[in-house]
Amino acid sequence: MVEKTGEVVAQPLLVRRVAWLTRLARELAARLVAARWNVADLDALACGVGLDGRALPAKGWMAVRRLGWAVAPAVGVYVCDRVLRCAQEQAARALRLALHRRRLVAAIMTTWPQDPPERTSAEWDALRMALPDGVSSAEVHNRTRQIRAYHGEHGALPADLTELEEPPKVAAQIVLAAADRQLVTLERAGSRGARLRVRLPLVASPASAKDWAWHLLPISLPPTVPPQGTLCTPTLRVVKGRVRVDLPFQIPIDVAPATGHTIGCGFDWGVNTLLTGTAARLADGRVVSDGRPLTYDATVISAKLHRLRAERAHLATKHQHQRRLLTGLTPTDPCHEKLAAACRRLGVEQERVCARIRNLNRALAWSAARWAVDQATAVNATVIYLEDLATLQARGRRGRANARLSGQVRGQIVAAIRHLAAKHTIAVVTVPARGTSKYCPRCGNGSSMLRHCPAPDRLTEKGWAWAYCPACGLSCDRDWGAAERIASRGLLGQRATRTHRTTGARTIPTAVEGNVSRARRPRRSTRAARRARRTQTDLHPRPAARDRSKNRPTPKRRRRAPNNSGSDAMTSSRVPDRRTVPAPPPTGNGKRPAGHAPQPERHQPYPAGHVRNSHHRTGFHHTKATPVLALAEHGSGSCYARPSCLTPSGS
Ligand SMILES: [Zn+2]
Repeated sequence: MVEKTGEVVAQPLLVRRVAWLTRLARELAARLVAARWNVADLDALACGVGLDGRALPAKGWMAVRRLGWAVAPAVGVYVCDRVLRCAQEQAARALRLALHRRRLVAAIMTTWPQDPPERTSAEWDALRMALPDGVSSAEVHNRTRQIRAYHGEHGALPADLTELEEPPKVAAQIVLAAADRQLVTLERAGSRGARLRVRLPLVASPASAKDWAWHLLPISLPPTVPPQGTLCTPTLRVVKGRVRVDLPFQIPIDVAPATGHTIGCGFDWGVNTLLTGTAARLADGRVVSDGRPLTYDATVISAKLHRLRAERAHLATKHQHQRRLLTGLTPTDPCHEKLAAACRRLGVEQERVCARIRNLNRALAWSAARWAVDQATAVNATVIYLEDLATLQARGRRGRANARLSGQVRGQIVAAIRHLAAKHTIAVVTVPARGTSKYCPRCGNGSSMLRHCPAPDRLTEKGWAWAYCPACGLSCDRDWGAAERIASRGLLGQRATRTHRTTGARTIPTAVEGNVSRARRPRRSTRAARRARRTQTDLHPRPAARDRSKNRPTPKRRRRAPNNSGSDAMTSSRVPDRRTVPAPPPTGNGKRPAGHAPQPERHQPYPAGHVRNSHHRTGFHHTKATPVLALAEHGSGSCYARPSCLTPSGS
């Protein structure tokens, strides 16, 4: 509604007016960014001192003004100073992000490795020294690839980021946070709504202040915004013919303390099991683990991601090839139009596959993070320990792990865990990754090496998934053992916790080793197992490996009898002609589509003995995740010693 006249503005007209405003802001910001995309101006912004010798303020538009970087609209167009501010804010954010990339690129180029795809561990150390804090390995890989591509094309390393990249693109949006009451106001209307007042242009290129008018926009708030949340000034943009309001809000949360934790959860990154964790408690300076492995197995999803990534690479090659062919054709060529259309179609398809990968990555990351935080709240843990992704790089398992799950997903999971844990006042601390699965968590204390084998009944073979300690006889999943060591490193090394000054990320830089005992006693062996031990036979005999050597004539394939329908068509011997398992009972309502199941807001710990259906929690059909179980009693030290409350009773 237009405030002054009370005229109700139809949706399409409102969309057009907002689009005019965002276009004005985008043009101004893009012009400013393009004008300052050079070494001298980026240096001026990076040094953080304005023309008057004072330090630059944190607010982007103020910093830009302090540097004297003015921007004016086209001749004959009137915009108020607040719109200029919004444009300057947007430009400053784009340039400051570029400064981060510039530092990264500079660090990579000063420590340019001998063989760029594979850095040696000394080269990684040198690079880590030069890099700014909090840079993930995925960022390093991506930038290295970008510089290599430039090197391949130009035969030399770029002098600066401005040579490596075009000026960053500016989105068509208006960052109203930089403006004040002269352009925008926002107030809450009831618990489920808000009223946004904003000045919008009435024509595409307003010539005077008369072409601007205050508009009232009612906003309905989603249920994720709690009534006590404080709304912040939004950003407006137009997406697919609708006005979108990016509305940040603040809720008060307590700060989790860095030290003084007694119950914590440790999580290890696996290859296919995305996360393997354990709950542990600190009792009289000793770490006691809960004895229950917590796994989030996303094998099927990561296989899907793997397939999609292969498809993306295939499409990219094809697209590149078509574009190369297209450059060789003149526009008058009869083939040109056909090829151009095919090229466009391929571009769209590639974009869609990329979006699918992004969405799946994000959904997986949030689902895994939600599960991890739920596990921590269920055992009343006050801290979650994770491996430091920066130190993970130096380990040998990178090649295989990254083939399935990119480091980017892990970075997203860490960010999501931090976000969700903060709401429950749970600290998230990273510990050094080196040697977590190398030493025995039970007796190792940093000295007794684990033997890695393929399975618990093949302890003499070399493998990956299973860990066996010859000294104490511990035999467990490799990642579970690593998770126990991560939890123990965290709980024992609490005093060395450091908090990053700007990001607030907590980390323990030194590894403090200590043995972990398991509270849960092994279950009484079954009668079959006792008999097997007594008679010295194998409880689970494996069939003898098939002899694959070619020392006999190839046997004839057995032909299947013709089926009842009378046709003599051959059916494959691999497909059974009827179901080998009974069909599942019809439920009537079908499968729930993938995605987040609606969950009620929960602030209280789970009641004792409560079992959640993990499938509802993860949002994926094919993810196998340990159900979240609440422990009956806590605080008295008895919660790990009661196997009855650890055993799932339902599902
Ligand atoms: Zn051991």
